[in-house]
Amino acid sequence: MATKRMFTLNSGSALPALGLGTWQSGPNEVYEAVLTALKTGYRHIDTAYVYGNEAEVGKAIKDSGISREDIFLTTKLWCTFHNNPEKNLDISLKLLGTDYVDLYLVHWPIAFNPKGNDALFPSLPDGSRDRMSNWDVTKTWELVQKLPGTGKVKAIGVSNCSTVTLEKLLNAPTTTIVPAVNQVELHPYLPQTKLLDYCKAKGIHVTAYSPLGSTNAPLQQESAIQTIAKRLGKTPAQVLISWAISRGTSVIPKSVTAERIISNFEDFVVDDADMAAIDSISSHTTKRVVNPNWGEVVFHDD
Ligand code: NDP
Repeated sequence: MATKRMFTLNSGSALPALGLGTWQSGPNEVYEAVLTALKTGYRHIDTAYVYGNEAEVGKAIKDSGISREDIFLTTKLWCTFHNNPEKNLDISLKLLGTDYVDLYLVHWPIAFNPKGNDALFPSLPDGSRDRMSNWDVTKTWELVQKLPGTGKVKAIGVSNCSTVTLEKLLNAPTTTIVPAVNQVELHPYLPQTKLLDYCKAKGIHVTAYSPLGSTNAPLQQESAIQTIAKRLGKTPAQVLISWAISRGTSVIPKSVTAERIISNFEDFVVDDADMAAIDSISSHTTKRVVNPNWGEVVFHDD
């Protein structure tokens, strides 16, 4: 059964529960991946300026022949543009070949020096990350809040935000819009229950990234996942994706392999006993895969 589940964001937009991730989908492969996904029935694509693949993603969307309005497209503000989000958005829109994105996320709650020694990853002479001084994410959000008024974004949100960062953001006097989404790493090794409960209480939808545990993850070999998959005649990836959606999170598995893109799109409802078995995995193993050293604490809930 192809997934038809949708979530409604606090902005009023409908977000398809399952989307295609594109991080590390390289040149020449991401075009085919997006095209395969759209032909399969995916209507939600996740990219980011820093992935360097927006032009190919946009071309695949165009070549698919599917109306732009029928596709939910997410891209993300990079850390070197926190003092000028509209500039980064305009570059992304040009690369994507579209007038608007459905969701614009602040990729990380960390601002890098926009005038540093590298356009994406500036560093200081000692090798540490060159961050913008006297800046925090509440200032970024103040500027991002202006974007829906330009018509270039339908909804705005954040990514990699902990409960501590969100609390600061929501309590800032300059905050007038509650983020529609917080996109975070989430899978059975990192179920993020505290963050999920917090976001639910605040009306912030959570999107699960790296839902299969990311590249070469041992998660798909985990015995509880293997046992459930075998009994139901599903793949381990299908079990992980359906577990995530059944928890009320949207999910964006990445693949550049046609048969995986197609099989990942099959969705089913995981019953309570299997949900509990998968939930219990984190009692013996917890693991965060995406954990770059930005020079300050990001994941306060760990
Ligand atoms: P995923 O958890 O989606 O795992 C991707 C890996 O799983 C790839 O190696 C892929 O291989 C493989 N895979 C996919 N489907 C299957 C399958 N059915 N069976 C076996 N293996 C499979 O990892 P990502 O880290 O890419 O996360 C997903 C998306 O989330 C990203 O692509 C990106 O869009 C987003 N993201 C956002 C971040 C943020 O900071 N906001 C950070 C990280 C991710 P192959 O491609 O070779 O088929």
